[in-house]
Amino acid sequence: MDSIHIDGLHVYAYHGVFEHENVNGQNFYVNAVLDIDTEKAGLSDELELTEDYGKVCELITKIMTENTFKLIEAAAQAVAGGILRAFPLIKGVEVEIRKPEAPVELEFSSLSVKVRRSWHDAVIALGSNMGDSREIINKAIDEIKGSDFIKDVRASELIVTKPYGYTDQDDFLNGALICRTFLSPSGLLDLLHKIENEAGRKREIHWGPRTLDLDIIFYDDLIMDSRELTIPHCDMHNRRFVLAPVNEIVPYYRHPLLGATVKELLERLDNK
Ligand code: ATP
Ligand code: CA
Ligand code: CA
Repeated sequence: MDSIHIDGLHVYAYHGVFEHENVNGQNFYVNAVLDIDTEKAGLSDELELTEDYGKVCELITKIMTENTFKLIEAAAQAVAGGILRAFPLIKGVEVEIRKPEAPVELEFSSLSVKVRRSWHDAVIALGSNMGDSREIINKAIDEIKGSDFIKDVRASELIVTKPYGYTDQDDFLNGALICRTFLSPSGLLDLLHKIENEAGRKREIHWGPRTLDLDIIFYDDLIMDSRELTIPHCDMHNRRFVLAPVNEIVPYYRHPLLGATVKELLERLDNK
């Protein structure tokens, strides 16, 4: 991937955990590496086919000077997210913030935090069988659409399905969506849990009635298995109520472990 580099952009700002830092301010220096395909601009020599790095510098300065963060971690997160949101041709960004006058009583030349953020595809399954399920799911979709960390949301139709696992409960309403996000899988799960909790989700019976269930089905072609997350979702290929809505939006998304597309997985399940 090509890149544009911004080195040592100077801003005077007020970030820090100490009050004197927030009152007096100090010097900060920002480095940014912008992942961007420059071939079209390179062949045509047209500014419209790339992102204007002058504007990127202005945005970095604005975010750094119009906010007061305690941590340069938070400043770096805000700058990286701001750049990704504002400049659609930038696919990923590395932001380093240096704080050479950080209040540490030992000698050092500079202290810095570097973060890397980029857009990822995420496929999310939605389900509900308590309360006004249609309204609850539509509200969740709106919240996902409104998130600062997410763009390009495309949702399926919602379908009525029979309960799975624990069958002595009401029918479900299910759907799926695909989006772009610069959250990590675990950051995305936290956001989904927050939206579930706001919808009044309680975890009582496993697979039991719930106002809202949001599961991560795919995240790029990532394969992961940690204590909190299994991606792709471990049982998605056995669930018509997941595969049918996902097939509506991304039939050719390939399951990175099973090697089959969603369309093929759905056909396999239908033929069982
Ligand atoms: P199932 O995962 O079989 O659909 P469930 O959705 O009813 O069951 P929950 O009670 O909603 O299960 O979630 C329990 C935990 O599952 C979550 O707190 C989360 O840590 C974990 N989990 C693992 N993989 C995923 C994933 N891909 N998406 C969402 N949660 C996951
Ligand atoms: Ca689930
Ligand atoms: Ca879940």
